[in-house]
Parts: sequence; C-alpha cells; structure tokens
Amino acid sequence: MPTTNSEKKINNFIESVKAKQAHEDEFLQAVEEVAEFIIPFIEANPKYKKAKLLERMVEPERAILFRVSWLDDKNEIQTNKGFRVQFNSTLGAYKGGLRFHPSVNLSILKFLGFEQVFKNALTGLNLGGGKGGADFDPKGKSDAEVMRFCQSFMTELSKHIGANTDIPAGDIGVGAREIGYMFGQYKRLRNEFTGTLTGKGIEWGGSLLRTEATGYGLLYFVKEMMEHKGDSLKNKVVVISGSGNVAQYACEKAIEMGAKVVSFSDSDGYIYDEKGISIEKLEFVKELKNEKRGRIKEYTKKYPSTKFYKGKRPWDIKCDVALPCATQNELEEKGAKMLVKNGCKLIAEGANMPTTSEAIDIFAKNNILYAPGKASNAGGVATSGLEMTQNSLRLSWTKEKVDEELKTIMKKIHTQCVEYGKEGKKKEKIVNYLKGANIAGFVRVADAMIAQGVV
Ligand code: NDP
Repeated sequence: MPTTNSEKKINNFIESVKAKQAHEDEFLQAVEEVAEFIIPFIEANPKYKKAKLLERMVEPERAILFRVSWLDDKNEIQTNKGFRVQFNSTLGAYKGGLRFHPSVNLSILKFLGFEQVFKNALTGLNLGGGKGGADFDPKGKSDAEVMRFCQSFMTELSKHIGANTDIPAGDIGVGAREIGYMFGQYKRLRNEFTGTLTGKGIEWGGSLLRTEATGYGLLYFVKEMMEHKGDSLKNKVVVISGSGNVAQYACEKAIEMGAKVVSFSDSDGYIYDEKGISIEKLEFVKELKNEKRGRIKEYTKKYPSTKFYKGKRPWDIKCDVALPCATQNELEEKGAKMLVKNGCKLIAEGANMPTTSEAIDIFAKNNILYAPGKASNAGGVATSGLEMTQNSLRLSWTKEKVDEELKTIMKKIHTQCVEYGKEGKKKEKIVNYLKGANIAGFVRVADAMIAQGVV
C-alpha cells in the first residue's frame, strides 16, 4: 500500500495509464520505471507541476499500423503487421530503430519508443523519439524473401518518414542487409537520395563505426562507471547475453579493454568459454551469426573445450560484470539473485529493458551498480545522429573522429547520470543510474515541451 504523498501520486498515475492500456505490459513496465523517479522530482520542482508533462509524454504523438503483404519463394501470399510509433518530436525529428521479430506488437514498440525519447535526450543531440517494426521473422527466410518483405514494408512506411520527419534505424532482426533493401525501395519511391535511414552502408551514406557504436558505447559507459568507483575493467570477468550486433561489439571492446568475456547466447541457450573469448573466436561468431546466420551452439563444435547450455541464460556464471545484450526482460529475479550471490558488481544494459523490475530491486538492495539501457546503450542512436550530421554536410568523417565523438557523448551521459543520480552520504560515489538517467532525460524534454506550448 502506498503511504507517502509521492507514492500515492505514483500509484494514481500508473492506475490512470493502466486504465487506458491494461494489456500493454511492456509499455506499463517502462512507464512505471520512469514515473517512480519523475513524480517525486516534479513534486520537488514546482516549475514542472502544472504542465502535465508526464501525462503528455506517455501518449505517443502518432502510431501508424499497416498491412505488409508479400510473396514468399513458393509464390504464396504472406501478410504481416507493420508499425511506426512516432512518440515525441520535441527535441527533433523522430529517431529510433525498426525491429523485425515475431514478438513485435504495439506494447513492445510503445515501450521502446517511450524509452527512446529519454535516451535520445540524454545524447544531447536534437533527436526526437520513435520506434517501429513488424512481426516478421527474418530467421529461415531466403535473401529474396527478406528483400520482398522489406520493399513491401517500406512502400507504406515511406509515406510517414523523411530526413526531417522521422529517421528509422536497425534493431533486432534489422541489420545492414535489411537497411539496404529498405533504403533502395525508399530511394526508388521518392526519387531522392537522402539520409532517411541510418545504419546505411559506408559507400552510400553510412557512418564509419555505426555498426560498432552500441556495443562500443556500452563499454565506454562501463569504463566511466568503473573509473568513478576507482576501478577498471582490466582482468574482470564479463558475461554477455545475445550474440547479435550489440553483443558482438560489446565483446570486442571489452577484450580491447583487458577484460575476459566468457559467454554469448541466443534464443536457444548460452555458450560458456571459461578460457575467454579471443578476437579470433569473436571473428568466428561474427561470421557464424552475420554471414551464415547460424546458431550460437555451433561455437562448441568449433571450440570443443567450451559448453552449450540449452534453454538457459548465462546469469549463473560467476562474473564481475554482466552485460545483457539480447532482449527485454531476459534478466529476471532468479538470474539477479545468482549474479549477486556469485559476486557480480556491475550490470550495464546493452539491450533495451532486459532487466525486470524485480531484478532491478535486487541490485538496488545489494548496492550493485546498475545502468539502464537508456543511458548505457545510447551510443547507437548517438552515432546514428552523427550519421545524420554527416549526411547533411555531405561529408564522411574518419573512424577516429566518430569514435572521439562517441566517447565524448558517453562520458557526458555518465556525468548527467551522476549529477541527478547521486545518493547516500558519500554523495558522488553512490550513483543511482536509473534515477539519474530518467531525471536528466526528463528535464531536457520537459523544458523544451514547456517552451513549445501545449501541442
Ligand atoms: P540482433 O538481432 O543483432 O541480435 C539479437 C540477439 O538477441 C540475438 O542473439 C538473438 O538470438 C537474441 N534474442 C532476440 N530475442 C530473443 C529472445 N526472445 N530470447 C533470447 N534471445 C533473444 O539485435 P541487436 O543486437 O541489434 O539488439 C539487441 C538488443 O539491443 C535489443 O534489445 C535492441 O533493442 C537493443 N539495442 C540495439 C541497438 C542497435 O544499435 N542495434 C541500439 C540500442 C539498443 P536469436 O538469433 O536466437 O533470435
């Protein structure tokens, strides 16, 4: 039962959001995680009180739902659901990825879009927030099928996006191949070569380091967290879940920083490599997942001294640092308890909302540093922002220049989290990153919303 005035207000607010969309579990979870910190902050800062900001922020500016019909290789007609949620354009054109996965629905895209608004605000760039995708599963489809799907999807989406309106990027199931097919169709339909999608190929408008940016940015953020408590990643054992884009480049940067990465996973289970994943082994994983589109268990065939745990997640491995990089709600209470028991000291999210609320509570109770994705995985969208800048300038920056910008942005996000998230008596040292990220992101969007009036 809520007792304080703030708790009552949080409770009432959540109930009012629930009443309108009771079945949208993931979206409600994301809203709850934000409201818990923002409502007390609004109470303490009267300038935000009257503007009904959170009430407005939880309502997407626009959500587009559309049919995507396409022909498979047997010439049979297939139909999927397509979506684009244009959540908030206060700070700039809508920006956020497209996800192709059978689990995609409005609730998942609303949670992702809502989080994106805060994340994009934290980058300091002029980016609004949005998210989209389809319940299409690229797994097991031929290249030709993926291309026909992407073309059909873009035929409708092209009516709603544009370089100054909405600039989608990749996410789960949408990598270089899918971005290429969608860009080709957009260009054909609009007869213009613009930076309307990010994550493009380097030769046709993409930015160097965009592919690596989310994983690298995550590690730059972890480095800041470590240094803030007077430690480093050197020789730390790191557990990573997922084996896609974010996981691969998180692994690469962690190895470069002197850590020992011991796991990867996919929806079939996880592999454990006690000796540590080397750059050579990582190259095998990249080829396996990106070129051959294989399964992670094949790693154990190539490296027989390693083990595959079917249907399991890697949270029972003893480690210093855990980086969930697969999908939402993959790190639950039981996994969190195991991590704490085994001495894990830091969790930073590469994925979006991979940690459940119960698991977050366990980390908080045990003083484990926990960084939410909206802060720690913002390097991807930040570099998409840098891709947009390069497109507007019609220039391509060097890898070194992009990397420098990325490092600076991740450092600044960390500074904002510390500023708004410090807690306890030894103030600067104990940081509630979830609180810090939520309040810092909120303040930037809220100030701009107030300035722009009731729209
Ligand atoms: P990829 O499609 O490249 O890889 C996703 C990985 O997660 C795969 O290993 C996949 O395994 C696994 N996975 C997906 N769904 C599930 C599931 N239900 N259970 C277990 N494993 C699953 O995606 P990304 O690496 O791009 O994205 C990973 C996460 O990072 C997502 O949460 C995404 O929103 C987030 N993110 C991505 C950014 C980017 O720039 N790409 C930016 C910021 C956040 P399988 O092959 O079996 O499906």
